This record gives sequence, C-alpha cells and structure tokens, in this order.
Amino acid sequence: MSATPHTMIPKPDELDLVFYRAVVSAGKLCIQRCNACGAWTHPARYYCPKCSSADFAFAPASGRATVYSYTVSHVSMEPSWQPFLPYVTIVAELEEGPRLVATSRDIGPERIALGMPIRIVSETKSPDFAIFWAERSEEQKP
Ligand SMILES: [Zn+2]
Repeated sequence: MSATPHTMIPKPDELDLVFYRAVVSAGKLCIQRCNACGAWTHPARYYCPKCSSADFAFAPASGRATVYSYTVSHVSMEPSWQPFLPYVTIVAELEEGPRLVATSRDIGPERIALGMPIRIVSETKSPDFAIFWAERSEEQKP
C-alpha cells in the first residue's frame, strides 16, 4: 500500500506524551505496565486501576490482538484519509488485556469480523506521536 499522505499530527501532552514517546523510542507498541502488580493499562493512568500504585513503566506489547469492535468510514473530511475510503477503524483487544483503537489499510469492510486475530503495529509520525495500524495476522487462515 502507498505511504500515508501528509496529515495533521496530534501533539499529545502529560501522560499521553510519555506513552507516545515510549512507543516512538521502542519503534513498536508499548503499553503501561504496573511495576507493583503487573497489570497492563491503556490509556495510561497515573495510578494503577488494580492496586493504585503510581510505580509504572511502558513495556513492549506483543502486538497480538483480536477485533473487539469496529466501524467502517465511508466519508472523511480529512483529505489525507480520503484515498483509503472505505476504511475500517478497530477497537483491538490486546493479548495483554487492554483495548486500543487502530485503523486498517489492509483489512477492508468485506473482510473484517469480530474476534478476528490481528496484529498492531506503530508508525512513527513525529518524535511525540505514532499512529497504530491493524494488520492481518499471520495466524489468520487465508
Ligand atoms: Zn498495579
């Protein structure tokens, strides 16, 4: 598929900025992990939702996920997204537990299905932001 056209790059702040910088630094999806109890959390929070600890780090995630929910966009007001129409935006349930929103360029509306195994990859867009793509998993049957 062709490269993503130039588009507006969000400028995250506070804990979101820490999250995106961890992803950019690792060059792959990283998720917040509690150093006290090991719980994975996304979106990032200042205190663990399981044990309330403020001791956390961002650790590389497997990228393995399944489709929890999705929507199909047939119209976009953003010119850089129009070449991809219709495209699928997915709520991915990560193997580690948390859910994350990703868009797909290679899974069309005719192929998407709930529970489908997918792989989440990051694409660095700036030193402070990355976008997440959902790709067909090698574990999928053809
Ligand atoms: Zn915890």
